[in-house]
Amino acid sequence: MTRSPPLYLALFFALVCGTAQSQQAEPADTIEVFTNARIIIGDGSIVDRGTLEIRNGIILTVGSSLLSPEDAVVHDLNGKTIIPALVNTHAHLGWEAYGDWGSQFFTEENLVDHLYRHAYYGVGTIISTGSDKEDVAQRVKLEQLRGNIRGARYELSPGMGSPGGGPNPRFTDDPDYWGVNPIADPEQAIRTVRELATQGYGIAKIWVDTRDERRGAQVKLAPEIYRAVLETAADYDMRIIAHATTLADHKALVAVGNRRFIHMPYDSAVDDEYLELVQENNVYIVPTLGMITKQEPYYIPAFQDPFFYDQVPDAVLQSLNTNYTAPPTTRSEAAQERSAMLADNLFRLKDHIILGTDAGAVGDFFGYADHVELSLFVRMGMTPMEAIIAATSRAAQAFGLNNVGLLQAGKAADFVILNANPLDDINNTRQIDAVYIRGEAMDRESWSTRWTLEN
Ligand SMILES: [Zn+2]
Repeated sequence: MTRSPPLYLALFFALVCGTAQSQQAEPADTIEVFTNARIIIGDGSIVDRGTLEIRNGIILTVGSSLLSPEDAVVHDLNGKTIIPALVNTHAHLGWEAYGDWGSQFFTEENLVDHLYRHAYYGVGTIISTGSDKEDVAQRVKLEQLRGNIRGARYELSPGMGSPGGGPNPRFTDDPDYWGVNPIADPEQAIRTVRELATQGYGIAKIWVDTRDERRGAQVKLAPEIYRAVLETAADYDMRIIAHATTLADHKALVAVGNRRFIHMPYDSAVDDEYLELVQENNVYIVPTLGMITKQEPYYIPAFQDPFFYDQVPDAVLQSLNTNYTAPPTTRSEAAQERSAMLADNLFRLKDHIILGTDAGAVGDFFGYADHVELSLFVRMGMTPMEAIIAATSRAAQAFGLNNVGLLQAGKAADFVILNANPLDDINNTRQIDAVYIRGEAMDRESWSTRWTLEN
């Protein structure tokens, strides 16, 4: 039986999201040439005064002297920098309503809005991690593949965990929360991974922590269960990302084949044994620094940062301000030691770090949080170039998203044009001139106008 999308959906996407034509500056088969730009490829290399040619959403050439046909549309980017669009591997779409939050907001309309918000800030690909209502999410994903939705590329990763477990209590206390795929024993784990693989999922998340004992998940995911997940996933080339926050769990997980983590070890310093495991197994780590640095003296809440103002009305800024509790001005010695340890952990793991914000879960905001994370990478010892690699090519590689994260011939034309050089100052990733995804300029101005209007 074949199913076509409900008519209301098609109408909704046409009216609210804009049709393909209304957001495209040029017909799809026009060659567009972006010239005289500093091009940061994403793998650590740079082309000075380079040229990027695109057509039909694909990069045709990247280099310093290219042949452009006479009818190409040329953009002179003198003084500007091009970077690959960012790849964010950890967020929770659909629940945030900018002023309210909950499962009731998980609609097609809100999901699409969150893809646009990411795109506005230069995020080309977003992996939503284990909290999506799968039927709604699949419909949006399909409409995007059909070309009816723009914004960041939407990748899904369903979640598995102990029965009653899963994400933080903010999600699971919601009476209408749909839960996670329960895996109570190795047999159920094997069955669940096979089912998800058969449904076409290439990425899935497991929660190893107990998280919160109120919800019945008093037992951590047992090693024999996550081992069954990892071994079965390997059979199906499914990429697993594990939620784990302790050094001991990280080691135990890598030992049985886990290669991706949400969160780095927060409980103790990274030791040589772990570092060796990480290097030998090519492990990828999403440190989610934004979540753990809210008590730091340098932390700037979103409502105090003009870079955030483009996507919310004043009333939301005011309510964020009202609900904000500033951290204490003096910090205990233990808190200071912990900060130093986390910075040191990040620095030691820097060649394995990838971008993920956890936005949409605990008060961080889509797209904006990505730039905060980039700044934190550099604050904790990475170079701006290393931070950009972590947020582009390495993040894409970690999940086999081989079409994005690098500016190379044959890859997707997903890139951000910046008015200032982020290698001079990582905060220059905020100086966004334009965002292209699938070779199309994102309609940033009209989105911002809509978002900042008072209801
Ligand atoms: Zn999360």
